[in-house]
Amino acid sequence: MPTYENIARPEEWITDTDRQVAAAIRKWVDEDVWPNRHKIDDDWRGHEIVKPIMKKLMVDIGYQRGIWPEQIGGLGASSCVGFVVCCEEIARGDSGMCTAANCCGWPFMHIALPWHRNDRLVEKFGPMFCDTDEMVMGCPAITDARSGSDVENIDATHGQYIQTRAERDGGDWIINGHKLWCTNSGGLADIFGVFCTTRPGVEDDEAFALIYVPADTPGVTQGKPYRKAGMSADFNGDIWFENVRVPAENRAQGPGLDAQYAREMISWGNVMTGGYALGSMNRVYEILVAWVNNRVVAGKTLKEHSIIAGHLGEIMTLIEVVKSDTYCKARMLDRPDLYGPGHSREMLAKTRSTKLFASDALTTVCNQAMDLMGAAGYAHEYDLEKIWRDSKIMSLWMGGRSLCRLDTARWYFECEDV
Ligand SMILES: Cc1cc2nc3c(=O)[nH]c(=O)nc-3n(C[C@H](O)[C@H](O)[C@H](O)COP(=O)(O)OP(=O)(O)OC[C@H]3O[C@@H](n4cnc5c(N)ncnc54)[C@H](O)[C@@H]3O)c2cc1C
Repeated sequence: MPTYENIARPEEWITDTDRQVAAAIRKWVDEDVWPNRHKIDDDWRGHEIVKPIMKKLMVDIGYQRGIWPEQIGGLGASSCVGFVVCCEEIARGDSGMCTAANCCGWPFMHIALPWHRNDRLVEKFGPMFCDTDEMVMGCPAITDARSGSDVENIDATHGQYIQTRAERDGGDWIINGHKLWCTNSGGLADIFGVFCTTRPGVEDDEAFALIYVPADTPGVTQGKPYRKAGMSADFNGDIWFENVRVPAENRAQGPGLDAQYAREMISWGNVMTGGYALGSMNRVYEILVAWVNNRVVAGKTLKEHSIIAGHLGEIMTLIEVVKSDTYCKARMLDRPDLYGPGHSREMLAKTRSTKLFASDALTTVCNQAMDLMGAAGYAHEYDLEKIWRDSKIMSLWMGGRSLCRLDTARWYFECEDV
């Protein structure tokens, strides 16, 4: 019987190191995550179950060191393909854990990736992730209480509607604002990458800033985790910044460049969402195989009915296409020499389409699988129901389906006023 590993992916792009890390993650999923899936699902409030399991991924396997350079004890991971390989494995266990793990390093791409490394900030913040036996959580603080999409809609609004503001006071930034929903908030975050503006109301990429704020800085308050439809392993809550003072050097790159690399960060986030969707689909495939091989209706197993086989073919077509596309875009981000920089509007458009298609495909695959499983698909103990609940947010986050469509149309049709 084939396994999810037989779903097509370009094996020649995947390194031996990627495979070793993937094998370690798979073992962790099989031994620690999947056997505890129901407890993880119920653990949205306190993370008593989630934290020790996550710590094995982040500290023992070393995921929290991933993005940081080897010179400071990191793993020096800078391949988008490599991250997708890991996402597939983590999200096969739990897509909320996958979100939490990847968002930990996501805001530090600006300073850690080799092609625009900020050595001073790498040396300042990297050791807290690399030189420790404790789990340390980074948090991408993008979504303002007013709107998440407006912050990410860089090419139309250029930071004009960002509500979180940073004002210079001598050698410091003073930050004020209110963020919602940011992954690893809800009391968990140790450090935030805060998307803010240095000139409120002004439409200018130069005013778009990413500033790092340790969570214990006076004036930072984290609210309690929200209760959501799914993804309990990802804590989300309010964050208030009230006259928070941090050194001026905490700005990631500076005027213009912070907006530029925010585009790159969004492009990577789009492809990572494809990876999370793939991991979830890998698990749906496994659940379906077990179901259609054993469930008997009208005298034969489900898979031997042509009407069911037709559905199975459709489901696998979606998974195949999402996998091919996600790896293709990841590879394109890994080869700027061939495809241009990850912050280009072209790559933003291309990866937005991946996110839109992959996240919608996951929801479709869950729906279709549930149709084939009948009431069992809707039942807690058959596991599909959790993946179905977890799935929807992937199309909602990062500006939702509208922003995916807008960024894609803008580049392909040279729209000027949307
Ligand atoms: C589990 C989870 C994890 C998350 N992780 C993070 C995180 O790590 N960091 C973070 O900062 N946020 C995070 N979020 C928040 C998420 O990214 C935002 O909710 C999302 O970007 C949408 O913002 P919003 O909810 O404010 O909706 P709004 O911005 O108010 O959007 C409302 C609707 O308007 C549409 N829309 C947006 N722009 C336009 C436009 N120009 N024209 C027409 N329609 C438009 C949107 O698609 C949406 O349908 C997370 C949320 C969840 C639930």
